[in-house]
Amino acid sequence: MLKKVLIANRGEIAVRIIRACRELGISTVAVYSEADKNALHTRLADEAVCIGPAKSNKSYLNIKNILQAACGTGSDSIHPGFGFLSENANFAKMCEESNIKFIGPSYQVIDLMGNKSNAKELMKNAKVPVVPGSEGSIRDFNEATQIANKIGYPIMIKAAAGGGGKGIRLVHSEEELKEAYEIVKQEALVSFNDDEIYIEKFIENPRHVEIQVLADEYGNGIHLGERDCSVQRRNQKVLEESPSTVLDEKLRKKMGEAAINAVKASHYSSAGTIEFLVDKHKNFYFMEMNTRIQVEHPVTEWVTGVDIVKEQLRIASGEKLSYSQKDIMVSGHSIECRINAENPENNFMPCPGSINDLHLPGGNGVRIDTAVYTGYKIPPVYDSMIAKIIVHAENREAAISKMKVALEECVIDGIDTNIDFLYQILENENFISGNFDTSFIKKEFGI
Ligand code: ADP
Ligand code: ADP
Ligand code: MG
Repeated sequence: MLKKVLIANRGEIAVRIIRACRELGISTVAVYSEADKNALHTRLADEAVCIGPAKSNKSYLNIKNILQAACGTGSDSIHPGFGFLSENANFAKMCEESNIKFIGPSYQVIDLMGNKSNAKELMKNAKVPVVPGSEGSIRDFNEATQIANKIGYPIMIKAAAGGGGKGIRLVHSEEELKEAYEIVKQEALVSFNDDEIYIEKFIENPRHVEIQVLADEYGNGIHLGERDCSVQRRNQKVLEESPSTVLDEKLRKKMGEAAINAVKASHYSSAGTIEFLVDKHKNFYFMEMNTRIQVEHPVTEWVTGVDIVKEQLRIASGEKLSYSQKDIMVSGHSIECRINAENPENNFMPCPGSINDLHLPGGNGVRIDTAVYTGYKIPPVYDSMIAKIIVHAENREAAISKMKVALEECVIDGIDTNIDFLYQILENENFISGNFDTSFIKKEFGI
C-alpha cells in the first residue's frame, strides 16, 4: 500500500482525499499557497508545505515546487484531485520520472484523452457511438465551412484541449461561423495554450449522462452506473444526480458496455468518467472522457456504496479491483448541489470574502463536502465552489425534498451564494417531473 500521499490540490477535494488516506492508514502531505496558510486542507494533513504565492500558476500549477515538496517529504505518490494539474500529461510523466506514483491513469492515456478530437477518433474505432462531426481537427476556416455544411447547422465549435465549459461555441448558420471560429480559436489559445479546434453536430435538447468507471492495472474494468448532469449553466454543471430519469435498464446496460469498451480501448486504469449526450430518441453519443476524479463523484458513491477515492488509492497501490460488475447495485436516489460563492443577481459574479457565520445542514442522508469554516476568508483567486451538499433517499421525490430541507438549513453569512437559485431549481415543475435537458436553466430562468 502507498505510505505517504501528497495532495496537489486545495479546497473540498483536498480534504476529501486526506480523509480517504487517513481511513487507509496512509500519511498525508498538503501543499498550499500563501493564500491558503489557514485553509482546512493545510491544517488537516499530517504535514503541509508552502509551494508559492496565491496565483495558481505560481503554486498549485507549479510542477517544480510540487515535485520538490514531494521529494522533500518522502512522499511516494501524488493525488492531483480535479482541476489544476489533474489532466496534465506532462506532470504525470514527470512524477513517474521522479519515481513518484501519480494517482490516476498513465500519462500516455491522459495525453490521448486530453485531446478531445483524438479521443473521439479512438472511440469511433472501438465502436463507441460518438457525436457526429469532423474527423479529427480542423486545419483552417475553409475546412470548417465545408464540414459545417456537410453535417448541417446548428454545429458546435470546440477546443480540442478544452475543459470546464470553456472554448465551446454554438453556431446556427454559415453567417455566424467566421466570428465563432475566431473566438474559439482565441479562447483556446488563451485558456489552454493550444488553438486546435474541432466541429460537432449540435445535438438538440440532449441530456448530459456520464458513466463512472473504475479500472485496475491488470485490465479489469467496471462501471458504477450513470450521473445525470443536464442541469448546467453555460455548459457547466450546477446540480447532478444518480440515477438519471431518462435511462431504463436496457439503455443503462448499453451505455455501461460502451463505457467499458472505451476503458479497454484506451488501456485505462484508475477512476474515470465517460461523458455522453443522450438525445430525445434515446440515442447516446460519446463526448469526452475525464481522466480524473470528478466534482460529482459523491452521488455515485452514495447509490453504489463504493468509495471511489479509496479505490483510486488501492488501484495506485497495485491492488486488483475490489469489486466485479455483478457486485455493483444501484440503490435509492442521490442528488448533489454545488454551493458557489457567487451572486446570481449580478450575472453569477464570483463573490469571495469572509464567512462570518456558518451553519451547514446535516442529519440522516445528508453529506457535506467542504473546506470552509466560520471565520474563513475565501481567497479571490480560486474556483468559486465552496461546498457540495449531497443527499440520499429511497427515491427521487424524497431526495428532492431532503435537499430542499438541507438548503433551507444553510446559513452562510458574509458572502453571496447560489443557494436560493438551487432551491428554485428544486421547486421547478419541469425539474420535478424529469422533463428537462441541458438547456433547462436557460429556458426556465432566462440565463
Ligand atoms: P467538468 O465540469 O469539467 O466536466 P468537474 O465537474 O469535475 O468536470 O469540474 C471540474 C472543475 O472544477 C474545473 O473545471 C474547475 O473549474 C473546478 N475546480 C478545479 N479545482 C478546484 C478546486 N480545488 N475546488 C473547487 N473547484 C475546482
Ligand atoms: P468540457 O470539456 O468543457 O466539459 P464538453 O465537451 O464535455 O466540455 O461539453 C460541455 C457541455 O456542453 C456538455 O455537457 C453539453 O451540455 C454541451 N455540449 C457539448 N457538445 C455538445 C454537442 N455536440 N451538442 C449539444 N451540446 C453539447
Ligand atoms: Mg465535459
